[in-house]
Amino acid sequence: MTKTKPKTLKIDGSTGEGGGQIIRTALSLSMLTGTPMEITNIRAGRAKSGLMRQHLMCVQASQQISNATVTGAVLGSASFRFTPNTIQSGNYTFDIGSAGSTSLVLQTLLPALLFANTEQSIYSTVTIKGGTHNTLAPTTDFLQQAFVPALAKLGMHVGIECVQAGFAPIGGGMIKATITPFMRRANTPPLQLTKRGELIGIELAANTLNLEYDICKRELASAKASLVESGIDETLITTHSHKLQGIGEGNSCYAQVTHEVSDIQNHKEHHSEVFTLLGEKRSSAEKIGNRLSGLVKRYVFNTDSLVDEYLTDQLLLPVALAGGGEFTARVVSKHAETQAWLIQQFLPVEIKLTVIDEQKNLVQVVC
Ligand code: ATP
Repeated sequence: MTKTKPKTLKIDGSTGEGGGQIIRTALSLSMLTGTPMEITNIRAGRAKSGLMRQHLMCVQASQQISNATVTGAVLGSASFRFTPNTIQSGNYTFDIGSAGSTSLVLQTLLPALLFANTEQSIYSTVTIKGGTHNTLAPTTDFLQQAFVPALAKLGMHVGIECVQAGFAPIGGGMIKATITPFMRRANTPPLQLTKRGELIGIELAANTLNLEYDICKRELASAKASLVESGIDETLITTHSHKLQGIGEGNSCYAQVTHEVSDIQNHKEHHSEVFTLLGEKRSSAEKIGNRLSGLVKRYVFNTDSLVDEYLTDQLLLPVALAGGGEFTARVVSKHAETQAWLIQQFLPVEIKLTVIDEQKNLVQVVC
């Protein structure tokens, strides 16, 4: 009997948010489902449309791990075709060649490598060179402190090491991820992250790469003072700072905010959100620290939800792949709506994003 070839899925890259995320998620899902695809109108609404270096790296890396046939993917392409083959676990190294986000390239490959060679339990390692601390993308800290712990709740185990930090414009950073093949256990309960319990800690961290270390101290002091002033118990706040290794210069600070999850009686879990800011030439360290505390306060005081904006769109695909679940989100961004739409183009799942209380900024996400 001859095997029928799967139909090519056509994706309009200008749908919804219309950015790079459509390309990355479509690549992940094309590899996982073995569906050939053609993406058109790539990043049509952006000032510089088409494939940028980071997006092209995502296509090339996906091509390599799934032995795909690719046509039309060059810098600036408005469309390309991608026909995946078998995903191979293994040890891979990719160099974006710019300060483009290593996190976003990794997130493209993760779903495929989590599901590759699961019977033989072959681990994969992925080393990616480029930017580790980018604006408008998850930093390595965000991946380590928020994304990876959330994946672990789904039974997906990934380790991420920041080998060298890389900031724009130079880049030169490097991360190394170790991916354990994902085996879904029949008795694993679906993800349930809905009821926010007590605030149990806020960890404020600041780091510099080849810049005055004093910046960290000033950022942390102003963030902490502003949080204490707002009524947050000082004993819940810890601070630490690091000198990063790498070429170029940069500064970032973040807050890891951890709450109890009180969904399951007698079995309390924790959930951490991470809020990040990068230092800016025209902003003082005190101003950055103050802005960081503003992000924390918005989450702690203005919503009853557990998951904040960025983790919401990043969690949708892992939750769908792990067999479903439910969580509460502070907002549903255009990114999250577009992500939900795209996942449903490839997978037989239903994702519902329902505002349950506008005043309390509470959205229910069910997959
Ligand atoms: P484009 O250049 O077309 O906007 P892009 O490839 O740079 O695209 P987006 O499509 O905008 O990226 O996707 C950005 C991703 O980064 C989203 O998943 C979003 O949740 C995440 N992100 C953005 N800012 C942050 C942040 N501060 N912390 C964590 N994640 C973030």
